[in-house]
Amino acid sequence: MPKRIGTWLVAAALAACSSHSHGAGRIVVVLTLDWEGATMSSDALDAIDATRKRFSGAPITHFVSAAYFTKATPDPTATDTLTAAVHTGDELAVHLHAWRSLATVSGVTPRLSPSFLTGTDQLLPFDDGDTGFDVDLDAYPLVDLRAMLRTSRSLLEATHLPVSKSFRAGGYLATPKVLEAIHDEGFTVDSSATDFRRINIGKDEFLGKRLQKVWPTIDSGSQPYRITEKTGELIELPIAAIADYSTAAQIVAVFEAAHAKLRASPSHDVFVVLAFHEETAVDFAERLGPAMATVRTRPEIADELTYTTVQQAAERVRH
Ligand SMILES: [Zn+2]
Repeated sequence: MPKRIGTWLVAAALAACSSHSHGAGRIVVVLTLDWEGATMSSDALDAIDATRKRFSGAPITHFVSAAYFTKATPDPTATDTLTAAVHTGDELAVHLHAWRSLATVSGVTPRLSPSFLTGTDQLLPFDDGDTGFDVDLDAYPLVDLRAMLRTSRSLLEATHLPVSKSFRAGGYLATPKVLEAIHDEGFTVDSSATDFRRINIGKDEFLGKRLQKVWPTIDSGSQPYRITEKTGELIELPIAAIADYSTAAQIVAVFEAAHAKLRASPSHDVFVVLAFHEETAVDFAERLGPAMATVRTRPEIADELTYTTVQQAAERVRH
């Protein structure tokens, strides 16, 4: 090879490397919304719309319990509500809480303890008579978990919205058994891991302790990783902050830490997964708005943000 061309190739390669190491990484924000399977409300939909606007119209990944469709008297507007909430570019994914009605429709024997909120057999009561929302998923055998996952998927697919291969466990309790079940059912991403220290407050003290056993090493800065044991190519996408358990200041701190991480390693994406809930959107979603307003006043952080869904974030992790 003539020397001049060889030199040019080396220079071009160096230039490519250098541009890659100066800004190829982004702060990848994944806004996620858990629908618990209790009740849907128009006030919640308004709060969800307002939150999306504060995130520049970001796509939302909706983790939806199928229990809205398994109640003794299902809300006849549930499909329409969900269809209205899931916008083009959003992702619809499975959220599993072991509601008694969902277990029954799935053909498995409902387990009514322990509660992940108390560790006892005292389950949260609901006006419509359904229960099981707070049952620890690990109480179910693998085969029953798989049956509830399959039923959840087919009930959500009945809305004619596409259902992704992402998953979030009720109570964030994606134990090894739950991960094995979702892997066996063809899911590719779990987004249940979260910082137990954040949950260890007030009435949910027991849940914090339970989560410490399931996610002992996860904190609010934890980055996605591959789960290899028994579960092949599952990607775990940890949740950095949950609106119900975080202050706006804590959410801003998550972004500051993400920015510091990006500056330390500019060619690598830094992921920030945020979560809120349909049932409590009216009370807690408003914490996300002020947090984002503060982040926007910091152009060095704001300019690095890009918004995506759970499945697309997992693709960025794989490549
Ligand atoms: Zn949930």
